[in-house]
Amino acid sequence: MKPPKIAWPEGVVSGAPVHPATAAFVANPFREILDEMGAFVYATDLNGSYVYANPMVLQLLGRSLPEVLGKTFDDFIKLEHDEDRAAIDRRVLVHGEVVAREESNVIPHTGEVRTYWSVKRPLRDAGGAIAGMVGVSYDITDKKRLETAVAEQKALLAAVLDNVDALVYMKGEDRRFRYANQRAADAFGLPADQVVGKLDSQLMPQEAAQRFWRKDQEILASGQRSVSEEAMQGRDGRMRHYWSVVVPWQQADGSRAVIGLSTDITELHDLKEELQRQARTDGLTGLVNRRHFQICAQAEFERSRRYGRALSLIAIDVDHFKNINDRHGHPVGDRVLKTLALCMQEGLRGNDVFARTGGEEFCILLPETELPAAAELAERLRAHLELCVALDDLAIKVTACFGVTASAGQDTGFDQIFARADRALYAAKRQGRNRVVVS
Ligand code: GH3
Ligand code: MG
Ligand code: MG
Repeated sequence: MKPPKIAWPEGVVSGAPVHPATAAFVANPFREILDEMGAFVYATDLNGSYVYANPMVLQLLGRSLPEVLGKTFDDFIKLEHDEDRAAIDRRVLVHGEVVAREESNVIPHTGEVRTYWSVKRPLRDAGGAIAGMVGVSYDITDKKRLETAVAEQKALLAAVLDNVDALVYMKGEDRRFRYANQRAADAFGLPADQVVGKLDSQLMPQEAAQRFWRKDQEILASGQRSVSEEAMQGRDGRMRHYWSVVVPWQQADGSRAVIGLSTDITELHDLKEELQRQARTDGLTGLVNRRHFQICAQAEFERSRRYGRALSLIAIDVDHFKNINDRHGHPVGDRVLKTLALCMQEGLRGNDVFARTGGEEFCILLPETELPAAAELAERLRAHLELCVALDDLAIKVTACFGVTASAGQDTGFDQIFARADRALYAAKRQGRNRVVVS
């Protein structure tokens, strides 16, 4: 077969005969495409002299095609640390290897480092002998930079997500977890990669899964972020409390999800509850204190009004308590008050509100209780006190007076009920103490 005719560009100085294989490459019908390719494309003969260079190569070399043909890369550009390139060329031209690798070059006139994906393969003649080399290099500098930036961002995100003091997760519309950071995975007792793909109902108690799913649906439907306190039973059975921010999220594929950031505030929550409990409680007896009693009383009064339900009140004052203090000392007085509170508590129901409203003064609020039943209870407590409050080491007889009343139609506020119970209490004092007076 006749070798194809080479259409050498104008001005090519080519003393040496061109090998038919390289000539065939140059005459290649795809050459126009090679010219247009967004890559460096070139062909050389066995000496490394260009027989073809596309416009991108020419631009790099800063020469026209006629100036380049018959010359080698080294005639134009001296790269630092370029030993590899010559060795690679030898592997291709001498051993016929195909070499594909990443290369980095410092561009001489700009000093910029650029990275290429470079493929070099031998050009062979019809008999299979190596006649030259064809090379294609893609500039992957921007891609590499992007990859590095993405990798850095990923590493940063991973460092933040695994060190942030919060459970971070992403859950899809299908209720399945798409992401869980280490803390979230720890809360579920699984490695993070095993959380992904699981349904919330596979990871937490059903009640919590239902509750969270309802909330997720609201967020997905409204597109609004939600901030709230949440509770979930931990793996140790203890209730844990979280401050949760949940935001709607649309993924690149168009599917929707929610991203949650939940900070464990159990310690803070428990502390708050404890402080609230202390604010409601009398320190000595553990009973409801005066301030909280007033809040409860007002609420119960309003409830009894609204639903027409009975409400009774017993006011209690210890008899001659001053004498106990005087005779045995204040600490013993305190022990008496504590014992007395415990004794009376034994006879009360769960929704009765028993409070220490003053030094040796107590009140019992009795919802759903008519006056006769309240009077009966007061009498039982009075009798029980006489028997109960006997401190092991001391013979102290403790008695108290009880003023009993119930909510009446004309009462416009709890104060009136309280005043009536107080008057009954002082009537009991006047009548000789250790007694119940009903008003
Ligand atoms: P009465 O039968 O008329 O009620 O006589 P009383 O001595 O109980 O009456 P008074 O109200 O005069 O005295 C109440 C006493 O309770 C005075 C106070 O020292 C004592 N007291 C108040 N709070 C405490 C307390 O927290 N601990 C102790 N030990 N005593 C208290
Ligand atoms: Mg008193
Ligand atoms: Mg008293």
